[in-house]
Amino acid sequence: MKEIILNHPLVEHKISILRRKETSTKEFRELISELAMFLCFEALRDAKLEDIEVETPIAKTIGKKLNENNYAFVPILRAGMGMIDGVLKVIPNAKIGHIGLFRDEKTLEPVEYYCKLPKDIDLKTAIVLDPMLATGGSGSAAIAMLKKRGVKKIKFLSIIAAPEGINKIQTDHPDVEIYAAYKDLRLNDSGYIVPGLGDAGDRIFGTK
Ligand code: URA
Repeated sequence: MKEIILNHPLVEHKISILRRKETSTKEFRELISELAMFLCFEALRDAKLEDIEVETPIAKTIGKKLNENNYAFVPILRAGMGMIDGVLKVIPNAKIGHIGLFRDEKTLEPVEYYCKLPKDIDLKTAIVLDPMLATGGSGSAAIAMLKKRGVKKIKFLSIIAAPEGINKIQTDHPDVEIYAAYKDLRLNDSGYIVPGLGDAGDRIFGTK
């Protein structure tokens, strides 16, 4: 099972503030960004490092270097954009691609309307960003788009995940690691995560 849930008191504390309907746009954005930073930190646990020579004021030693060029963040528009600030604090030189999907009203399937990715994305680890992993429909479609372009290593970062969304991604893409700050109970009939936090995009951009 490639499902990693951040089990940490600080995360639970921050998620509870994020959930509150009274939380301001400013604080909501800051919390999404901070939690995205923690997720990215965890997602890099298996990162490969190169040895480099480092000279401290006292002695020469062997240090480690992360090749930031090996990573690309891919936010799913629009809510995924809210996680960019935080993840860039961890890998400031990572490239960024964008994926936009809408839901076809008849088939209810996600349809691609935008896809702009770094040109050598197939050589990088792609880290897909979407704060709410709900049905998993758009997450699974975004992963399929990356695979179609030759990407071999993909990680999926979400702030809150529903069991339905995790199952969907695990079924469609068993090779993809899913990271979530918190796993919630279920989806309601409108596809919202319960208890969740409402519409993450609206709360990040202040559109409601
Ligand atoms: N997208 C959201 O923004 N919130 C949910 O609860 C589900 C999907």
